[in-house]
Amino acid sequence: MWNYLYLIVCLAFLILLFYFLKTKQRINSVENKLFSLSLYTSIFSVACELFLQYFTLNFGIKSASTIVFSRLYLVSIFLWFTIFSKYIFYLFKPNKDDLNYEQTLPIFNKRYRVVSIAHDIFLVLSFILSMVLPIKFYVNGADDMYSYGLAVDYLRFGLGFFMAAWIIVSAKNYKRILNEKYIPIFVVVFLLLCNIFLQKINPSLLIVSFTLSFINYIMYFTIENPDMKMIAELNEAKEQANKANNAKSEFLSNMSHEIRTPLNAIVGFSQALSEEDLPDSAQDEVSDIVSASESLLEIVNGILDISKIEANKLEIVNKEYSFKKVYHDLCALTKARLGDKPLELRFHYDDTIPDVLYGDSTRVKQVILNLLTNSVKYTKEGYVEFKVSSVRKDDIVRLIISVEDSGIGIKQENIDKLFSKFERFDLQENITIEGTGLGLAITKKLIDLMNGKIVVQSVYGQGSRFTIALDQKVVVGKTIDDIEEAKEEEFKELDLSNKTILVVDDNSLNLKVATRLLLPYKVKVVTMDNGYDCIESIKQGNHYDLILMDDMMPKISGTDTLAQLKLIENFKTPVIALTANAIDGMKEKYLSSGFDDYLSKPIDKNALNGIINKFMQKN
Ligand code: ADP
Repeated sequence: MWNYLYLIVCLAFLILLFYFLKTKQRINSVENKLFSLSLYTSIFSVACELFLQYFTLNFGIKSASTIVFSRLYLVSIFLWFTIFSKYIFYLFKPNKDDLNYEQTLPIFNKRYRVVSIAHDIFLVLSFILSMVLPIKFYVNGADDMYSYGLAVDYLRFGLGFFMAAWIIVSAKNYKRILNEKYIPIFVVVFLLLCNIFLQKINPSLLIVSFTLSFINYIMYFTIENPDMKMIAELNEAKEQANKANNAKSEFLSNMSHEIRTPLNAIVGFSQALSEEDLPDSAQDEVSDIVSASESLLEIVNGILDISKIEANKLEIVNKEYSFKKVYHDLCALTKARLGDKPLELRFHYDDTIPDVLYGDSTRVKQVILNLLTNSVKYTKEGYVEFKVSSVRKDDIVRLIISVEDSGIGIKQENIDKLFSKFERFDLQENITIEGTGLGLAITKKLIDLMNGKIVVQSVYGQGSRFTIALDQKVVVGKTIDDIEEAKEEEFKELDLSNKTILVVDDNSLNLKVATRLLLPYKVKVVTMDNGYDCIESIKQGNHYDLILMDDMMPKISGTDTLAQLKLIENFKTPVIALTANAIDGMKEKYLSSGFDDYLSKPIDKNALNGIINKFMQKN
């Protein structure tokens, strides 16, 4: 009676484990396969034992069913030991982190194959012997029965042989065994030894089934837990994917960075040329170069922006600004982008929006411009509508900005992917429309950074509406005029004919561009291709009114040059960092290194003008 109960409980537990195993997603590894096999064999073995019990008691020890099940039971124990033994040998497979992993792995694989074949031969031999060797039974009631005879003796000998082999390999690989993960193996060997010992004392103890079930449980929850394996494998895959992704982003941003230097020359020269008195045909071509180089710059900046955002290096720089001015600029830019496309532009502005807000006007403008540009790009006919309204609560105004068009629209299934980078849709139809698929990814990330929200509504073939809700602080007591006035002051015409500007850059093309951009100011321009010459020149007493200094120079960096200049007595010339280092892109970094300001390359005409106005007036 007790034996039945005990066997049924063992079987139930094993079936439960089987259920766990089947319902979990698993990795297809050799260990996993061996573990599954060992579990199936345990179930088979306990079932055989249960049947054996039943047949012995009900049909007697001579019945065919009793004989068959007793031999099947012996075979199942051999099978289990063979599988478990292979499993143990396989655990000593070299680790990926091992020093000589590449060399030791093939040796291991070869050895394992030999060991595995030896196991199989032993199993076949044991199968035959278990079937033919004599077996006898002792029965004294339901809870006191056992088998004995040569077949059972052979089983004991076989198991002893297995265990001896395990102890030898474990001793040879004792370092690996010390790994916490393999401690269960010790437990297993210990349990099996106890098992043999106990059965010697009391042969009717049905302890084998219990041991097998228990071992399978230990293995499942420690070494073999598919969850743990899965997690380990996923973590490794994730790490590799992250590494690959980072490498790609870094490559992209380095590339863009490299592209900016030659682009600096193209943008600078073409802008300068476009202001010359050129023949009409040349003027057209130059303005094409200007617009082409500007759109190339936009793409490069997009890539840099996304790399900065992904590296968490992009900061929102809040300051006072006039949203109305941003709005007007955006209207003008949209008109300019429209060119001669036959679209109706509709603009609505809510006059209750406070004059001066506190936020990052550059990013607000960038985000809205992206949407407006897309609407213009993806609409062939009809209209593009740009509408701004607002809701005010105390000193916060919520701007509701909507950009609507009657364009090609976006399929419902694509709306979710819209804000992922590099996603572009309907490529066949839009083959002539330029784009990188970065615009909306940047837009979304910038809006998130500014704690805003963006929603998209679209009907494919009819049009789309993008709506942004963005909270901005209201600056009370200031008007647009206060801000605009400040701006106008910056751009006064200056006569610099008696002044000198020093430009230091290791790239001769960059020097030429800077010189060309400074031409309209009639200022004297001195150029140097390294920091040492600059230090020497100042030491010799040469005076400059402004220094534009590249940072990334081979012999001595701009930052180090500046540090040395600061040591020179009476050195007061303002020094502006001139750099394509838009990845680090931190104005603050240069300011904290002692630079007076920062100009990013390609040098923007207006930014240069701002700098000249700011620093040359003082002298
Ligand atoms: P890009 O315009 O450079 O391709 P975006 O990230 O700005 O990249 O846009 C991603 C994709 O979303 C576009 O390629 C286009 O298929 C779709 N899309 C964006 N805005 C609109 C719009 N207003 N109308 C229709 N499709 C749009």
